[in-house]
Amino acid sequence: MSECLMTAAAAAEAAARVMARCDALAEISETPGELTRVYLSPELLRANAMVGKWMTAAGMKVWQDSVGNICGRYEGQQVGAKALLLGSHLDTVRNAGRYDGMLGVLTAIETVQYLHDRGERLPLAIEIIGFCDEEGTRFGITLLGSRGLTGTWPESWVDHPDANGITVAQAMKNCGLNADRIWQSARDVEDFVAYLELHIEQGPCLEQEQLALGVVTAINGAHRLNCRFVGEAGHAGTVPMSHRKDALAAAAEWMVYIERRTPQVGPQLVATVGTLQCQPGAVNVIPGDVALSLDVRGPEDGPLSALLADLLAEGEAIAQRRGISFSAEEFYCIAATACDAELQAALTRAVVQVQGRSVSLPSGAGHDAIAVAERWPSAMLFVRCDRGISHNPAESVTTEDVAQAVQAYVQVVNEVAGGA
Ligand SMILES: [Zn+2]
Repeated sequence: MSECLMTAAAAAEAAARVMARCDALAEISETPGELTRVYLSPELLRANAMVGKWMTAAGMKVWQDSVGNICGRYEGQQVGAKALLLGSHLDTVRNAGRYDGMLGVLTAIETVQYLHDRGERLPLAIEIIGFCDEEGTRFGITLLGSRGLTGTWPESWVDHPDANGITVAQAMKNCGLNADRIWQSARDVEDFVAYLELHIEQGPCLEQEQLALGVVTAINGAHRLNCRFVGEAGHAGTVPMSHRKDALAAAAEWMVYIERRTPQVGPQLVATVGTLQCQPGAVNVIPGDVALSLDVRGPEDGPLSALLADLLAEGEAIAQRRGISFSAEEFYCIAATACDAELQAALTRAVVQVQGRSVSLPSGAGHDAIAVAERWPSAMLFVRCDRGISHNPAESVTTEDVAQAVQAYVQVVNEVAGGA
C-alpha cells in the first residue's frame, strides 16, 4: 500500500487546528454557555466572517452569497475551471454540539490549506461552502442554504415567520441581505463536477465497527403516518374476554409485529411507534380508540415502501381478526437520496488507504447533500462520534479520528479534482 499524500504528522497538526476552530466557533452563540446559532442571526454572520478569514488564509477567494452561505474558491490550474465543491453547515440546533456541520467545513479548509502550503493547483478548482441553514432551527423549514445554492427555494419561504413573527424576508433585511436577490445564490450546473460532505455520523455504527471513518451509501428516506385502531369501549368488569374489541391490545400486537418484522424485511430499515393515545383511558374501561404514529426509514425507496405496505397490511389483518377497524394516513414523506456510486468508490479508496479498511453505511439523519444531490453528483464521508450522541453539547470526536478524516479528505480531493 502506498503512502497517504498527507503525512500523519501533518494530519495531526491540521486536526489540532480543526479542533481549536470548532472550539472557537462554539463560542459564537446567542445563549451564553450553550451553542445556539440560527439562520440570519448576528451570530451566524460572525461565524461566517470567522470561517471566511480561515478560507482566505488558505489561499481562497471568499464571498457571502445572497442567502447567507459563506463561500470560498481555490483556483485550479486554469482560472475559471470547474470546481469540486466541499461543504457542510454552520448553523446549529438549540444547545447544540460543536461538530455537527462545522467539522465538515473546517476539514474541507484543511484540504485546501494542504494544497496552498505546497503552492499546488489541481486541474479542478476547489470550492468550499459553509451552509447558513441546514437544521431549520429558526424558521422550521430546512436546507435553506443548500436550496439557495440549487436555486430551489419555494416562493412561500420568504414569508415564513419565526417564533417572533419575523419573516425570512424581514430577517434577511435586518442582516443586510435582500430577499429580492435570493436567486443570485443559485449556481450553474456547469460550475461543479461533484459535491462531497464530511459529517459526524450521529449514530453508533462506526463506533461498533471500531473505525474512525465510513462511507455513506444513501441518506434515508422516510414516511410518517398517523394510525388508528377503533374498537369498542366497554366495562372492564362485565365484558367477557371473548366479546371484547380492545383497540389497545390490537395496537400492542401490531407494535410487536413492527419490531419483529422490520429487520426481516431489511437490516438497514428502522420503524418506530413514537406516540400513542388511548381513549377513553381509564383503569376500568376497555380501550376503544387508540391513535399512534408510525415512522419508517431506509436507504432505498423500494424496500422502504415494501416494508410500509407489509406493516399496514398486518395492521389491517389484526383489526379484521379482532373485529375492529384500522386506518393510516401519511402526513410526511421524503425520498431516499442515493450517494453517487463513483464518488462512493473514490471515498472508499481514500478511507482504505488511511485506515486499512472501509465500511459503508446509510445516514439516518438528513444533510445538505439531500438538496445538493438533486443537481450534482454527491457523496458523504462519516466520522465516528462518541456513542453516536449528537444535537447535544456532549457531542464529541477525537483529534486522532479527525486527523484520519483530513488525511482521507486530502486523498479523495486529489483524486476527484484530478491531482492524483
Ligand atoms: Zn449536520
